[in-house]
Amino acid sequence: MKSPEFQEVQRMAEVLRRLRAEYPNARIRLRFRNPFELLVATILSAQCTDERVNQVTEVLFQKYRTPEDYLKVPLEELERDIYPTGYYKAKARALRACCQALLERFGGQVPHTLEELTSLPGVGRKTANVVLGEFFEPQGIVVDTHVARIVQRLGFAETSNREHIERRLMELVPREEWVRFTHLMIAHGRAICRARRPRCSECVLADLCPSAHRG
Ligand code: SF4
Repeated sequence: MKSPEFQEVQRMAEVLRRLRAEYPNARIRLRFRNPFELLVATILSAQCTDERVNQVTEVLFQKYRTPEDYLKVPLEELERDIYPTGYYKAKARALRACCQALLERFGGQVPHTLEELTSLPGVGRKTANVVLGEFFEPQGIVVDTHVARIVQRLGFAETSNREHIERRLMELVPREEWVRFTHLMIAHGRAICRARRPRCSECVLADLCPSAHRG
């Protein structure tokens, strides 16, 4: 007789298998050329769509290439340059504080560990995991609003607490799938398992999902 935990690991493996087949090209949508640009883009993406961030960074990254560049312009100029991403005053301050800390403590380079990244002003666990997952060794799983919602609907977590969800996912998802897992969940959240009116009748996970067809 298989233990309940083993059954959950198997159920998660099947979820991953089906979503990989469904979204073979799932990947991060933000555009960037190096860890520093990804860090900036992720900070700008709070409460903003990836498409809007990409429109802004297409111009921004031509003008600002290093942490020094964000500090040498007047604050108002930086605010204007990131204005379309929303919360531009708070984001401009966060970007400058982050760049200042990068220069003072890390020689202007983006650090490689979760602890160091989250020690930067304006950088939370989610942002740190995004950067680590794309460029370095992932040390956690990015849990955004899509991931949190779908994981709960699938019954893999009983709480909306994101740190709890992340810890549970780290038990269930193989480490080599940590980065792809988030991209698959986001793709599924956008296409099928939407926040309002999930399209359960079109969902490849319906027979694995305790929330299927519950409105
Ligand atoms: S069956 Fe419905 S609730 Fe469950 S994952 Fe699919 S769309 Fe979401």
